[in-house]
Amino acid sequence: MKAPEVKAVPVPVNLGQVFAALAAEKQLMLDTWQDLVNSDCGSRNKAGVDACGRRVQVFLESLGFRVRFHEYEKAGNFLVAERGDTSKPFVALLGHLDTVFPDGEAAARPFTVRDGRVAGPGALDMKGGVTVMLYALKELIEAGWNRLPVKVLLPGDEEVGHGSSGAAEDLVREAKGALCGFNLETSYPDNSVVVERKGAAFFRLEVKGIGAHAGNNPQDGRSAIVELASKILKISALTDWGKGTTLNPGMVGGGTAANAIAEKAWCVIDVRYRTEAEFERVESALRDIATSSLVPDTHGSLTLTCRLAAMERTAGSEALFEKINAIAQRHGFPAMLAKAVGGGSDSAYLVKAGVPVVCALGVKGEFNHTVREYALESSLLERARLLAAILCEIEI
Ligand SMILES: [Zn+2]
Repeated sequence: MKAPEVKAVPVPVNLGQVFAALAAEKQLMLDTWQDLVNSDCGSRNKAGVDACGRRVQVFLESLGFRVRFHEYEKAGNFLVAERGDTSKPFVALLGHLDTVFPDGEAAARPFTVRDGRVAGPGALDMKGGVTVMLYALKELIEAGWNRLPVKVLLPGDEEVGHGSSGAAEDLVREAKGALCGFNLETSYPDNSVVVERKGAAFFRLEVKGIGAHAGNNPQDGRSAIVELASKILKISALTDWGKGTTLNPGMVGGGTAANAIAEKAWCVIDVRYRTEAEFERVESALRDIATSSLVPDTHGSLTLTCRLAAMERTAGSEALFEKINAIAQRHGFPAMLAKAVGGGSDSAYLVKAGVPVVCALGVKGEFNHTVREYALESSLLERARLLAAILCEIEI
């Protein structure tokens, strides 16, 4: 089928009709949501994530989007869909295709709606948000909406921080040139959205000393445990509550027996930070701590095992939030709160690309990443209408 041409002249859209069309398609939206939840697509299931991407591809191509994928060997492919001339400033709509759940979860715990709550793997995080995005676009485009070029960005390995793909870098490249971004991530029952998220990094610190018998020749030993203990105190002291930087040496180990001077010791450190500058400060200090020693002849080594970028708070994102909050209230949606949260998302990479972004505009609910996860059914229509209103009225 030939993709419909996007007209150059902006067409005024009757938002009331779009809202009505969304309400009329509520059952179709629920069906799509169910389809997306009932097929396993955990981050480690490349085939499942790629199948989910092809479903979304078919939907978006029927709306005139040009769809392509960044393909990766060891991770789900990253769907990019464009409509209009995206060489000009465009709106970026962000989400992800993967969930945290293992294979078999969809069969064991399929999509259900009970007492206004929708459950099933990824119902909240974030098949609901993907559904909101697809239907807001569908109804707008069928009503003639063409005021802005739009780019949909759906990576397939968000929940594992893009550790075995180039999706983080690809995302920054794809987002460059966007006027603004909206992430349809998990939202909250209190109607808040997110303008700031902490980054997270995990380090493993290993110390090697010299083993010896604790009774026969303790003077020949160099305790890796004593050295590690001294390092842990210095590591803890890097916490800066004022800047929101915390370090937690959450796991330690070492030694082989009480009557032996420990030859080896290790710890794992969780670091949370609000800015890239803080991450750099902490990483450099940790390297110094690792390589300098109190106990002579001991040697430390530090490995960064995982890192999720921080979504830094920017004036641009705050201003964008004010605009969409005004649009929301103009159309009778409840006022939103802009908050900072500890958990990460791909919005960080849009901020890195210099794009103002508001995150958590998807369906509302609680307990994501657990089997207790649920989404509020009523928020599906509400958030689809809100996204439609934003796309019709946002001025940047
Ligand atoms: Zn998510």
